[in-house]
Amino acid sequence: MTTSVDKLNEQTKNETVVVKILSLREKETKTEKGEGVYHFGMLGDASGTLPFTAWSIPATIRAGDVVELKNFSVKTYNDSLRLYIDSRTDVVLRPDDKLDVKRVYRDYKIKNLNLRDVFVSVSGLIKDPIDKTYEKDGLEKTVTHCTLEDDTGSIRLSLFDRKLAPGRYYKIDGAKLSEYKGRYRLTAGDKTQIVEVNGFHLPEIRAYDLNELQTPVDSVSISGVVVFLGEKGGLISRCSECRKTVDDIRCPDHPEAKIILDLYAYFTIEDGTGDMQCNAGRAALMELLGLKDEDLNIEKPKTSKAEVTRQLTEKLMSIPLLLDGDAVLGTNGPSFRARMIRRMDDALLKKVMESYEVDLQ
Ligand SMILES: [Zn+2]
Repeated sequence: MTTSVDKLNEQTKNETVVVKILSLREKETKTEKGEGVYHFGMLGDASGTLPFTAWSIPATIRAGDVVELKNFSVKTYNDSLRLYIDSRTDVVLRPDDKLDVKRVYRDYKIKNLNLRDVFVSVSGLIKDPIDKTYEKDGLEKTVTHCTLEDDTGSIRLSLFDRKLAPGRYYKIDGAKLSEYKGRYRLTAGDKTQIVEVNGFHLPEIRAYDLNELQTPVDSVSISGVVVFLGEKGGLISRCSECRKTVDDIRCPDHPEAKIILDLYAYFTIEDGTGDMQCNAGRAALMELLGLKDEDLNIEKPKTSKAEVTRQLTEKLMSIPLLLDGDAVLGTNGPSFRARMIRRMDDALLKKVMESYEVDLQ
């Protein structure tokens, strides 16, 4: 019998569906049986969409294809239904079929976004828009880069030829999630539905345990104790041309360029649930150390490398800290870019405890 995607459930047996493969990605697995490959993505028909996993799928299938599926199974995975294709499933390509897909996007809190589901629905506050123009087919178009913030974190959002008012809340249905340099971002194109919604409560602090930060999310906080401070950080000299750190009084690649003094720190923080690599740049460290721009004037610096190292050790090591910043995905797993570093006191601790009560859906 032929059925539709919205009728599928865990009891589904011996049904046939005709669906469009909306996305198809490959993943490698390593088990004791050896290395293998499986595929996953989204499929859908006029009634709705569903994520799927294919343990085996014909190599000719591409995203955008319409296929007939027989002998598949449906199970709950990560709180949502998922269709499973294996070696017993008949996958028949229907090259002449056209299929309109009703897109139903799952609602996500920003903190819970992940690349297993790339077309999503997210609601939040629009902040800090910057317009850029670009050319497409000889026409001048506008893309607006802004920040979307909810009660769990924030994310960068690019709006193509759409205008949203900063300071207002919107539900963005069908935005595309992608990763760039370890951070997530959302893109809203002409198929994305956007409606204004009522404002909701945004906490001052969104604190997370380190083991909760496995995927990128901006504008969050962590607390803990620094157990390692990298000795190559501190007061550093940088080439004003290429921004690289230089050991000498001039850059080997730009001997004419001015050398500037800068602050940088990298360290490991621990909170009882895990540890994480962190780094902090000029703005965060100037505030922590009480330095001003003129103190870092290379002609007459008001501090020294040894003094900065001594102060960083004193203000970072072995005392409870609260770090505000962005969780990013580096080559060695999750890491944290601190934008503000504060010593934990009773008032801050109270705010942190309140933030743990935010319900993550
Ligand atoms: Zn240089």
